[in-house]
Amino acid sequence: MAAPITTISDSKDRQGLNLIAAHSHIRGLGVTPDTLTPKANADGLVGQQQARKAASVILQMVKEGKIAGRAVLISGPPSTGKTAIAIGMSKGLGEDTPFTMLASSEIFSLDMSKTEALEQAFRKSIGVRIREESEVIEGEVVEIQIDRSVTGSNKSGKLTLKTTDMETLYDMGTRMIDSMTKEKVMAGDVISIDKASGRITKLGRSYTRSRDYDAMGPDTKFVQCPDGELQVRRETVHTVSLHEIDVINSRTQGFLALFSGDTGEIRSEVREQINTKVAEWREEGKAEIVPGVLFIDEVHMLDIECFSFINRALEDELAPIVIMASNRGSTTIRGTSYRSPHGLPLDFLDRVVIISTHPYNADEIRSILSIRAQEEEVDVSADALALLTKIGQETGLRYASNLITTSHLLSQKRRAKEVDVADVQRSFGLFYDPSRSVKFVTEYEKRFIG
Ligand code: ATP
Repeated sequence: MAAPITTISDSKDRQGLNLIAAHSHIRGLGVTPDTLTPKANADGLVGQQQARKAASVILQMVKEGKIAGRAVLISGPPSTGKTAIAIGMSKGLGEDTPFTMLASSEIFSLDMSKTEALEQAFRKSIGVRIREESEVIEGEVVEIQIDRSVTGSNKSGKLTLKTTDMETLYDMGTRMIDSMTKEKVMAGDVISIDKASGRITKLGRSYTRSRDYDAMGPDTKFVQCPDGELQVRRETVHTVSLHEIDVINSRTQGFLALFSGDTGEIRSEVREQINTKVAEWREEGKAEIVPGVLFIDEVHMLDIECFSFINRALEDELAPIVIMASNRGSTTIRGTSYRSPHGLPLDFLDRVVIISTHPYNADEIRSILSIRAQEEEVDVSADALALLTKIGQETGLRYASNLITTSHLLSQKRRAKEVDVADVQRSFGLFYDPSRSVKFVTEYEKRFIG
């Protein structure tokens, strides 16, 4: 049964950052489920078929629990979709899967030790799906409409029940169901309401529900208690990250720290207590763990200490899927004088599955830019799209993608319905004014890339 899901991690704004807005068009890896074959253009992803195929094979391994102790490295030139593919993988794991993005250089500038910063990033990437069942509050206006003909009974046509009195509802509800189905609602019987189709199913029949019934939520269940009373219960599901639970329970920080993002270091006793508590909830069936994705960008910036931390953390029972990205070839491992592929220590490389991304051709760039324009609800003329594509080929996808937004602002100023070549040319000009373009890019990096 689909449950309403709230994910605190979704509210990235509270950290003052919107790290993944540039990837808001990505909904999955765009592969056919059976053969894992990437479609040319699906789920917001275009081209990069080999990497997407590899990513979907890894995703399958994750789903089958066969990835333990390993990490993924996506290597390739800038703007070739490394982040996009990592996001596609996390979407493929389910809507409430936490996705954390960490720029490796970030951990050296934070006001905490490197390993604490990594520990927090790991715990932000592990979701705890908590189920709560509560009785529907008395006095809500509830209306059930049954508008199909009923055969085999003396009722037909439309039956409407409207009441604010829950007892009447229980009573009438039971009788309606009885008369429709000629079956008794037995203790323990549950009638579930499917959000997508709007149908109440169970007892072998289906009923259309009125829109007002939505007030009760899609996961409302009728449960007959042993004492004969029929209860209306609603199940809600929240997914929070282990880190959020840590912060809320950390006496020195308190939950307000979640909004400022300034959580400081968290004591290890707090984490141990939380782990024990979560283990108890799991035993009681109240919670389940949702391993998320920790995406570590520019991984060659990490040093040897960080790699040993990650090495150990990957062994943990509660490890997220670690996806790293690098656009470097062979480089020095920070904190040592050794060179190695992507700056990763050799023992760590042994644990890593590598996927590589390749530069896009003009058609692919055009398709991606056109998806971004749709996502931002911007109409772009064919000529302007051709120019953006040319700019994308020469300067990179991210830059061309940012030009869509700026060109749109310019077109709006002249009250035009669509972006044309002149708007693109003007924003291209603005970017190449050195001082203004630096300001511009910084602002957009903050807004879109972080
Ligand atoms: P960098 O090395 O600079 O971090 P990257 O390889 O991670 O770059 P992305 O940030 O994923 O590249 O890509 C740049 C932009 O293009 C993003 O908005 C991304 O969503 C989009 N994009 C990249 N590849 C694809 C693709 N194959 N399909 C759709 N959108 C894509």
